[in-house]
Amino acid sequence: MNLALWLESTARVNGAAPALHKGMELVADYSDFRTRAAALGRALGGRGVAPGDRVALFMKNCPDYLVALYGIWYAGAAAVPINAKLHPKEAAWIIDNSGARIVFVTPDLGPALGAVTDISLIDVAGGGFADMIGGDGEPPVSRDQHDLAWLFYTSGTTGRPKGACITHGMLMATSLCYPVDVDPVQPEDAAYYAAPMSHGAGLYAPIHVRMGARHICPASGGFDAAELLETAAQQGPLSMFMAPTMVRRLVDAARTSGSAGDGIKTIVYGGGPMYRADIEEAVSLLGDRFVQIYGQGECPMAITALSRSEVSDRVNPRWRERLASVGRAQSAVEVRIGDNVGRHLPTGEIGEIMVRGAPVMAGYWQNAEANAKTVRDGWLMTGDVGSLDADGYLTLQDRTKDVIISGGTNIYPREIEEVLLTHPAVRECSVVGRPSPEWGEEVIAFVVLAEAGATVSGELDALCLNEIARFKRPKEYRFIAELPKNNYGKVLKTALREMLQAEARG
Ligand code: ATP
Repeated sequence: MNLALWLESTARVNGAAPALHKGMELVADYSDFRTRAAALGRALGGRGVAPGDRVALFMKNCPDYLVALYGIWYAGAAAVPINAKLHPKEAAWIIDNSGARIVFVTPDLGPALGAVTDISLIDVAGGGFADMIGGDGEPPVSRDQHDLAWLFYTSGTTGRPKGACITHGMLMATSLCYPVDVDPVQPEDAAYYAAPMSHGAGLYAPIHVRMGARHICPASGGFDAAELLETAAQQGPLSMFMAPTMVRRLVDAARTSGSAGDGIKTIVYGGGPMYRADIEEAVSLLGDRFVQIYGQGECPMAITALSRSEVSDRVNPRWRERLASVGRAQSAVEVRIGDNVGRHLPTGEIGEIMVRGAPVMAGYWQNAEANAKTVRDGWLMTGDVGSLDADGYLTLQDRTKDVIISGGTNIYPREIEEVLLTHPAVRECSVVGRPSPEWGEEVIAFVVLAEAGATVSGELDALCLNEIARFKRPKEYRFIAELPKNNYGKVLKTALREMLQAEARG
């Protein structure tokens, strides 16, 4: 049950198939990929890495990311992917928490990390790495489906990151379901790593390795919309994961260049709210290539998916309505809505989203307190609020911690954000609760304007009056230059709330 067995079999059956690309350049076929990863696995064993040990990756996206990842699995160890945008001290905290004693780094990130940790770093551009991947290999170390494969640290929008324990069996289950539920991957396709491999995008690796499909890392190492459009035109069909902000940038680039997105097969988006106005524009410009997923590090890659046909203006006349939902449960999980003690609620009622099934994590790494809060009777409490309709479509309201309770009534900020974003002067916004002696909390909207200086409070208020109940209207609009975000681009509502609380304290 070692995930590396899929690389063994693809290399055996189809060794000459192209595997790893840096931009347009092919750097390894499946036979080379397997040889390098197997050699690295053996070399890690030679350095004392035992089955079950954790080995970290603090790297920008590049083909060697995949070689290192598979090398770790060949050695029977678990990968600890760390977001390359984290501060070196934050990365060092994760490394320390995971107990990893070896870290693979790219040359741009190694020195700063080396200054704050004494853990052994292996630079993938260095001679040491070249020696390790150039030696003899061995078949993957035998692993059980319950053995740890991927120790994924959540992004920490609600506190310190927590390590979600994902096993070989979990990744196999989700990888086997993915082509049915999300994107029908074919051997001629390529996974394009637009988003960081340290996050969900890295899990394209097993899916595409199993199919013998290609893996393309942007030559720029990151997301560049113009590069993506050009690569797609030359190397398509490409499938990729994108956060909502990336989709917006791609739409801007496509509009400017007049590109119709030729060569892009599928854009899977999720990880944060995609507002309806944005996705409607994306579908109108680039067509039915979009699949929304709702997922968490605790249940990779997807809890639910909204398929492309459901949001296709050609296939489904009700596509605009469907965009309000994050789709239906992927085939390896069950989704329910629970009350505050985890009792299942009837169809249509709003409560906490609960999930159980094959890809749901085995718990947080060495964090009994978080485990006790998060897993109830085998159900993962997602910390997100939503409702299911009679057809099984899930509509996400907000995170439980972001719900505003005003005068005893729940207000879901996302509903207000959706309304504000329809105003052309609003570029971004975030709605939070401010403590209020009278109401418990009151609604405050932080707004980033498309053009600084516009005076639109009155218009925004009129818009809200026209669209939503009076009690949900923001009591105040705060115009700011940018919203505080974490390294994954997610808005830090905690920081906005703290700002308001500090003001209230005087
Ligand atoms: P932490 O748990 O440390 O606060 P995090 O929850 O942000 O971090 P991730 O696993 O990166 O960590 O993000 C998962 C969360 O992102 C989900 O629980 C949900 O709130 C949000 N999310 C994921 N997909 C979507 C989506 N399609 N639409 C809206 N929100 C989404």
